Amino acid sequence: MLDRAKVRVVIVGGGMAGLSAAQHLYANGFKNVTLVEARDRLGGRIQTQIIGGKDLVEMGANWILGACAANPAFVLAKQNNIQLGRITELTGRWVVEDLWIKPDGTVIGANIVQRAMEEFRQILGQVSEKTKSLRVNPVGFIKVSFTLAIQDMSGADQRDALCIMRSMVNFLQVYDGGYLERSRGKGEPFNPLPGGAMCLPDGMQFLLDSLTKDLPSDSVQLNSQVVSIDWSDPECRVTCEGGRTHEADHVIISLPVGVLKQHRKKLFIPHLPAKKAEAINTVPMGKLNKIFLRWEKPFWEPGMGAIQLCWSDDDAEPLDWWRRIPSFLEVGPNVLLAMVSGEQAEHLESFCDQEILEKCSFLIRQFLRNPSIASPDQILVSRWCSDPYSRGSFIYQGTNVTEEILEELGSPLEEHRVLFAGEATVPWAYGKMHAARASGLREAERIIGLY
Ligand SMILES: Cc1cc2nc3c(=O)[nH]c(=O)nc-3n(C[C@H](O)[C@H](O)[C@H](O)COP(=O)(O)OP(=O)(O)OC[C@H]3O[C@@H](n4cnc5c(N)ncnc54)[C@H](O)[C@@H]3O)c2cc1C
Repeated sequence: MLDRAKVRVVIVGGGMAGLSAAQHLYANGFKNVTLVEARDRLGGRIQTQIIGGKDLVEMGANWILGACAANPAFVLAKQNNIQLGRITELTGRWVVEDLWIKPDGTVIGANIVQRAMEEFRQILGQVSEKTKSLRVNPVGFIKVSFTLAIQDMSGADQRDALCIMRSMVNFLQVYDGGYLERSRGKGEPFNPLPGGAMCLPDGMQFLLDSLTKDLPSDSVQLNSQVVSIDWSDPECRVTCEGGRTHEADHVIISLPVGVLKQHRKKLFIPHLPAKKAEAINTVPMGKLNKIFLRWEKPFWEPGMGAIQLCWSDDDAEPLDWWRRIPSFLEVGPNVLLAMVSGEQAEHLESFCDQEILEKCSFLIRQFLRNPSIASPDQILVSRWCSDPYSRGSFIYQGTNVTEEILEELGSPLEEHRVLFAGEATVPWAYGKMHAARASGLREAERIIGLY
């Protein structure tokens, strides 16, 4: 049996999954580990940035969803004494005190907001079960149930409550990358891990640093886009753009499904088995982007919470990207966040920062009925759909995606020579950062078990 220190492992992709695998292998005596990463940075869909020279923002993951022992991202943060901040329960992010406003600037009354919220929360708790048994999609179920639940309200109040519901559905869409209509409604936030959500006030970068701190610097190769993985021989060959090649006894592939969809035919020599290829084709990638707006002098009072955009069905083209913004959320003393999901997230990417900034300024002035609000001084916009190294935000469980298909994504090939990690490969937590971590640990363990 080979000495662990001599086993050659190449990890393709340096996001949470790849880094977790690398760190776990290294900690267990595997010293010949090479991680190849296409970008000039590690972290993948975890990316802490600074806006306006001061404020930290997260372009990708920003919540540990389920602060409990079953969540390996939470455990990692705890083990490394990383400061965690409590945020309100996910759906409790909706608070009556937020500004619930219609496009004409009317603020919806607190009693209607309170009632709408209660009904909505009640319905949320049933989505997973009901959509399974009734075979309806989660959005359809929510809309019908909500409409029935508010029948006793007056006509005008019902219309306002429906506007609130639209804002809440827009927010829920964030969890499935905008395709709740096509989803099984089984993941967050319908079946959350216990413990509520937490954030890292000092930035997700700390989580990444905790994974890289013990890795020797020459084990990580940035700016190394992998262009082929030849697994025809017992010795695999991983080739990067420019021709650099790595021989390996095991390759762990932690590429996003969006990237695998686009490149799998060219990437793998020989082609992947039909079952694996079909799983990659079947699992859909969701789309989610974030817009951070920063003002040197904020126009709002600290602690405002959120400006909740309560659209009616007649407002704007539903396909316009701004129509999918659920809220402008106060994420720092000077910064508001708008999220856009689904096709609209991709549509957003066809606009430049300045156009997005102007549209957001227009919306804020319109909803707050205040034309004198200044435009933001800075803007940061994510573009995960056109990013060649992500091709989308994260997967969602489409109606045709069974747990077996997700398991197939993560199943190894050829006596564990080629292994697969990544957020998509974990049926109980797909899409999330903790799924990525769990998958990296799982694949590292598979190799550890062999030696
Ligand atoms: C906007 C947004 C918000 C999110 N919010 C949350 C949240 O609040 N909580 C949560 O739990 N999760 C959240 N997520 C999901 C979470 O970020 C991901 O599930 C997780 O980070 C994925 O990790 P990964 O290692 O599987 O993939 P990635 O992080 O994508 O890592 C894959 C790596 O492969 C690299 N790569 C790609 N192609 C090549 C190539 N050819 N050669 C070499 N390297 C390559 C990429 O550059 C990347 O570094 C969010 C994601 C997005 C986009």
